[in-house]
Amino acid sequence: MTTGTMNALRKVRAAKGLEIAEVPVPAVGARDVLVRVSAASICGTDLHIYGWDRWSQGRIKPPVTLGHEFCGVVEQVGEEVTAVKPGDFVSAEMHVNCGHCRQCRLGEAHICQNLKIIGIDQDGAFAELVKIPASNIWKLDAAIPERYGAILDPLGNAVHAVLAGPIAGQTVLVTGSGPIGLMAIAVAKACGSSTVFATETNPQRRAMALQMGADVAIDPANEGAVARILRDTGGTGVDALLEMSGNATAIQQGFSALRAGGRASLLGIPTENVPLDLVKDVIFKGATVQGIYGRRMYETWVQMTALLKAGRLNLEPLFGEQAPLEKFEDAFAKLQHGWAGKILLHPNASIAERTQIANEMKE
Ligand code: NAD
Ligand code: ZN
Repeated sequence: MTTGTMNALRKVRAAKGLEIAEVPVPAVGARDVLVRVSAASICGTDLHIYGWDRWSQGRIKPPVTLGHEFCGVVEQVGEEVTAVKPGDFVSAEMHVNCGHCRQCRLGEAHICQNLKIIGIDQDGAFAELVKIPASNIWKLDAAIPERYGAILDPLGNAVHAVLAGPIAGQTVLVTGSGPIGLMAIAVAKACGSSTVFATETNPQRRAMALQMGADVAIDPANEGAVARILRDTGGTGVDALLEMSGNATAIQQGFSALRAGGRASLLGIPTENVPLDLVKDVIFKGATVQGIYGRRMYETWVQMTALLKAGRLNLEPLFGEQAPLEKFEDAFAKLQHGWAGKILLHPNASIAERTQIANEMKE
């Protein structure tokens, strides 16, 4: 049995910043799995919690260990766990559903009424070890590289959005080329979409959008942004809008560029209410508008794993930066500035590995 203490990156107090703290190894219940974290990835949500914005102040109850994107190796299992064993390579769905509310009973567990998120509401994966309910563990094929295993949570968001409607042969607009938008571009292309347009304010991320497979990357500040998309789609607009920015202007441009009868899959989370012309953009268009939250349990995981195993997704442009846990300040700053795609933290790296990874971090 693994006991004692471990290092964890935590929100210790209700203020800006994070701290590395020594905490007890989590106690494993009968249906729990203890996983030794190989790699954990930093999400935009972690940046919000670091900065202690309004949303974090209302949601986070310090002290709590962050981290909800990860993969690792099973260290220990509770006595009732049969699906995995020590040594298995795993990731996990970090949204924990209740199993008994109306949505759970209807097979809509991703919108459970009593959803708890590991790494937000309870201790997460920016630690040497993380405790996960066995029901949420996702066993990984050894062929899936560690860096891909660490980003299945946001990749799942992208797969969920892309596959929430027709995609093969469709023209697509992805608004916002942050990590999830970038992944959505790759997924849409892998699933046979025709022209993929990307809008993004940050020029570095526009360049990444093209690397990920977008056919056209557009600066939304450019006056002709929507006109360009309409022109390239023969005047009709795109079949599918995948909204990945949460930005009001992007959302409005997205609806303007959507064809009549198209679908709008909204994943980005706006911080304020967004004015929309419902008559012009939705009703008279006969548009299908859907909210996308989390990953379908576990349909999205099955689809995502199949795409990865088939070698259909090249996500390499997203990677490059790695950091030992103690270099988290540098990693968070880089992400805050939009200078990096995904940065992986390695809570179990040896001293030699830590030094090597830290030296490789780009200035
Ligand atoms: P991100 O903030 O890194 O990406 C958003 C991107 O949108 C940025 O690159 C930004 O420059 C770009 N942008 C800003 N204004 C724009 C405009 N006018 N036009 C086009 N692009 C614009 O975030 P991310 O991690 O990629 O996540 C994307 C969004 O999804 C965020 O809003 C996040 O909160 C949300 N999210 C939702 C879910 C869910 O389950 N629904 C899960 C995770 C994240
Ligand atoms: Zn429920």
